[in-house]
This record gives sequence, structure tokens and C-alpha cells, in this order.
Amino acid sequence: MILAIEQKFPGIYIAGGKIATRSMAPGTRVYGERIVRDSTGEYRIWDLYRSKLAGAIKKGLAGLEIVPGAKVLYLGAATGTTASHVADVVGENGELYCVEFAQRSMRDLIAVCEKRPNMMPIHADANNPSEYADAGEVDVVYQDVSQPNQSEILIKNCDMFLKKGGIAYMCVKSQSIDVTLPPRKVFEMVKKQLEGHFEIEQEIELAPYDLDHLFLALRKK
Ligand code: SAM
Repeated sequence: MILAIEQKFPGIYIAGGKIATRSMAPGTRVYGERIVRDSTGEYRIWDLYRSKLAGAIKKGLAGLEIVPGAKVLYLGAATGTTASHVADVVGENGELYCVEFAQRSMRDLIAVCEKRPNMMPIHADANNPSEYADAGEVDVVYQDVSQPNQSEILIKNCDMFLKKGGIAYMCVKSQSIDVTLPPRKVFEMVKKQLEGHFEIEQEIELAPYDLDHLFLALRKK
């Protein structure tokens, strides 16, 4: 199908009213996403209900520092749904290091990475960043690990890898942290844990795309 495609952020497009990225691996799908084409290439429609980053963009993320050429560390890549779109955005001059500890997800993630030369799978626990110290300094850390200690994991990784003044994007899942508290109370606790390390530049509740989730854009101090 041919649609009008316009740019929203560098490397991120609007195709027929939907957020999309230009595919690094034309002719393939990662999670059954819709594909559209024009004379400039093949675009993958980014599912707002399957990716918190797409939901955050849709809900008004002011700017995105995941841009063409950026070096990104992604914690909790799972089977590569969101990570594959991030790989599309950073493009052939960018680098994306994908950390995932679940063996089953890793198998699918490796298959996604095999088609994208800019995407490196790392089978490791994000609690132990020294296991992947070779990744080196990055421009952006993206974290979506759904763990009770996700603030601690983010801080450790940003201390080790994120350049000074770089940005971290964090998906906070209140139910993974404390199911007994109202989500907004959990979000306040998490922000308190982060405040010595980051300036909170933006916060976005992801409903209706993801319930009880907060997306944070955090500038490293
Ligand atoms: N970010 C993915 C996406 O949008 O396509 C979904 C991520 S899923 C909500 C969370 C993932 O984090 C799971 O695949 C889980 O195995 C992984 N994870 C959780 N704790 C982790 C840890 N300490 N180290 C590495 N991966 C972890």
C-alpha cells in the first residue's frame, strides 16, 4: 500500500496518521507489524499497544534523543519488539546494545539482530553491568525491565555507561514494584530514588496503551 509519509522526529515518521520507522531489514516483520512503502523505502507501523516508547511518543514526548547515528544501551530488550524500531531509528551509523536475561526471549532477539548489523544482543543480567563493560560509553540508556529494583539497575548502568548529560528513558511498571500501593504513590517513590542522579525532564503516564505505567525522560546530572 502507498501512503503519504512525513517525518515527526529524526528517524521517526507518520505514515497514514500512524507512527512508523523506516525498516533496517526490508521484507521482514518482527511482531506481525503492518508494513507500508513509498519511493524512499519500507516503513514499519509502530504498535502503540505493544511498545511503551511508541505510546510515549503518541502521548506527547517532547523530543527524542534516540536519533540516527546514536549509540544506545537497551535494558530488557525481550524479543526485540521495541528494540527493532530503535534499531531502525539509529540506522546504519548507530549502535544498539540489547541486554536481556531470559533464555527464551534471547533466541528470538538473536534472530532479529541477525538481520540488523547495528543491533547487538547481550545475554546478561542488567544487575551486573560489568558483564558487558565492552559496550562502552553510550548517548542514551533505555530501560524496560519490570523489576522491583529497576531504579537501582538504571542508576548502576547509567553510572557505568551513560555519557555526562546523556538521557535515560525509563518505563516504570508500578505493579512490579508494589502491587499494594496506588500506582501514583509508587511513581513518587521511584522519582525520589532517582532525584540525586537525574533531572526529570518529562513524565508521561502511558494509559490507555499500558495501564499503571509511567515513562520518564531523565537527564544524567
Ligand atoms: N522492552 C520490551 C519491548 O518493548 O519490546 C519489553 C520488555 S519486557 C516488559 C521486560 C523484559 O526485561 C523481559 O524480557 C525480561 O526478561 C527482561 N528483564 C527483566 N529483568 C532483567 C534483568 N535484570 N536483566 C536483563 N533483562 C531483564
